[in-house]
Parts: sequence; structure tokens; C-alpha cells
Amino acid sequence: MISLTKTILPGQTIGIIGGGQLGQMMALEAKSMGFRVIVLDPTPDCPTGQVADEQIVAAYTNLSAIMELAQKSDVITYEFENIDADALDWLTKNAYVPQGTDILRMTQNRIYEKEAIQKAGVPVAPYEVIMNEQDLNIALEKIEPPAVLKTATGGYDGKGQWVIKDFTDRNEAATLFTHGPCVLEKWVPFTKEISVIITRNLHGDTAILPVGENIHHNNILHQTIVPARIREQTEKLAIHAATKIADFLHLVGTLAVEMFVTEDGEVFINELAPRPHNSGHYSIEACETSQFEQHIRAICNWPLGATSLLKPAVMVNILGEHVEPLLENLHHFKDWKIHLYGKKEAKTGRKMGHITRLCDSMNEALLHIDANNIWKIQKVTGASK
Ligand code: AMP
Repeated sequence: MISLTKTILPGQTIGIIGGGQLGQMMALEAKSMGFRVIVLDPTPDCPTGQVADEQIVAAYTNLSAIMELAQKSDVITYEFENIDADALDWLTKNAYVPQGTDILRMTQNRIYEKEAIQKAGVPVAPYEVIMNEQDLNIALEKIEPPAVLKTATGGYDGKGQWVIKDFTDRNEAATLFTHGPCVLEKWVPFTKEISVIITRNLHGDTAILPVGENIHHNNILHQTIVPARIREQTEKLAIHAATKIADFLHLVGTLAVEMFVTEDGEVFINELAPRPHNSGHYSIEACETSQFEQHIRAICNWPLGATSLLKPAVMVNILGEHVEPLLENLHHFKDWKIHLYGKKEAKTGRKMGHITRLCDSMNEALLHIDANNIWKIQKVTGASK
């Protein structure tokens, strides 16, 4: 029988499923706290593998690799949510995964996720479950465009989604059914997208990072501004919503709650991610305790750290196409903290790193975040060299 509460101490081993940048930043924190780290990822020398003590090179669906990870680890966490159902079943019964696996199953499917958020008493945009074209027609009459059709499983960063601006878009949107059940969501006329990153430990204590304001380009997070430029009342509402969800789910570890804020300050939950999140990267430099350290503390049954914001901050993602302009113009970025994840191939749109700038005031931060232009300016400068 697997014990429900264990304190993991330095020298013991944390196993991470998934070897991307989130695992890498978790591993870096874990290493600085004295833990050993082993990662499971199919790509040799993956970002987490580069900083971990050991990597098991195998697919996430490889049950014997999952067993090997469990056998070599004192505690298991993950940075990758789409873990195979058989592997989840095995882990539930045989490994110490203090986060549990229910939350993973729930966030793997938008239908279960929305049901859980509503059960927690927190609003989501009006939606309908869609299994076929007839459902879509009925739902569209009810919800009315603009709306967005999303596959229930497998979508991320806007993939597996179709915006239905008016009834004529429905035929093209219907191609999504080939991927299985979908949800049709009312389009929320948001004025801001924000995220609340909350960590909860086995004793039910919670720690919440300052609310971040997120700006997406082409559905990929482009920048996070902290503190979010929202009313105090909205901030309270957002924090209350995230806390209700975390308590309802008996969360252990870190959860990112992405939200839409409307003109009149209403908050709707868009998505949950049961792990550290891109919109919390700013916390590495800007908060007393980063989301990665906090996550490690929670799964190891350590007390949670304080999360106060040391300074206003701006985080900008570095995608494949931004690496060259950044590296050719490093002198422009001397006040930015540069994080590159060690990925081999800089494909367009691929998250390769991020940069964070701490500022003395929000006004100063805003001067630096004409980030719509940050890469264009650098490209022009680079081209003249
Ligand atoms: P998602 O993959 O669900 O996070 O969606 C990616 C992005 O699409 C979000 O960050 C929003 O900018 C936009 N989006 C998704 N769903 C909605 C919605 N119901 N209303 C308005 N914008 C949406």
C-alpha cells in the first residue's frame, strides 16, 4: 500500500514525467534544494535530461519505462499532462504520486474539466458538448455565434479549435468531429486574459502567485505582465475562484488557472493546467518563491514559501523565430534575464526560451513592453549588421 503522506528529503529522488522546459526548471530548483532528479522523455538529451541526474529515454506510453521511473524515484511528478490511461492506472496503484492522477484525467478532457470547475462553483463560458453535426446545429441555435468549437482532448495553444463567427462557418468547423467529442463555447468578449497560479500542499495550505496578465499572439502566450492591470475587486474574484477550484480538487502541487476578464470585471475560467505554467515563469526572478520551487516544496511535503512580488515584471516568450534576433542583439537585452531551454531545433512557433525584466514601477515596465515590437526592432537592428 502506498503511503499518502511522505516527506521527501535532500538526497532522495524526484522522478519527472516529461522532459521539456517545465521539467527543466522544476529540476533546476530541485537540484538547488539537494534532490536527485530522474526524468522520463523519449528525446535523448531533452531540456530536463540536460540538468537531471538521469534520463530514461522512452515513450510516455511505455509502461515498463514508467515502472522503472517509479522504482528509481521516491516521489513522482509530471510536466506533461497527456499521460496514457494505462500508465495512469498503474501509477495510481503502485507509485507515490502525491498529486494523484484524478486531476490529470480531468484536465485531459475539456468536458470533464468544465464540469469540475462548475461543480467547484466557479463560472465557465456557456458551452455545450458536441458529438455530431446535429448537436452542433442545436447548440449553435442556443449559444449563437460568435463561438468556438474545441476538441475535448488533445488540443493546446489554440490547436484543435475553430472559431465560428457566424452560421456559415459551421461546415468547416465540423471537420473537428473527426478527432472525437468537442465542446462549443460561447466567445467571451474579454478585455484581459489573466492567470492565477496556486500551489496547495497535503495539509491544505495554499500559496498564490501575484496575478499575471497574459497577452497571446497566434494563440501562443507572448508576454505576461505582473501585476495584472485589473481592478482590485477582479483580482479578489480571480484569487477566490482559483482557491475554490484548488480546494474542490484537493489539489497537491501547482495548478495554473487561466481566466477571461470581461469589461464589467466578470471572470470566466478558460483552462486548467495541473503543473507550473508558462505564465508563471516571471516568478523565478520576481517572487520570493518561484512556481517551480513551490511545486517541489508541495510534492515533497515541505512548507510552502512566501510569494510576494519583489518588483513589477514583464516576461516575453522566445519562440524559434526570435532566437536569432535575440542572440544577434544581446547588448539590447542586458537588463533582461535570459532563459534558453537547450532545445536543438529552433522551429517557428516553438517555445525556445523566455526573457524577464524586473522594473521599479509598473510605468517603467510598460515602457519596456512594447513587446508587440520587441522582436521586430531587434530584427531590423540585426539585419543592419
Ligand atoms: P485555449 O487553447 O482554450 O486556451 O484557447 C487559446 C486562446 O483562444 C485563448 O487564450 C483565448 O485567447 C482564445 N479563446 C479560447 N476560447 C475562447 C472563448 N470562449 N472566448 C474568447 N476567446 C477564447
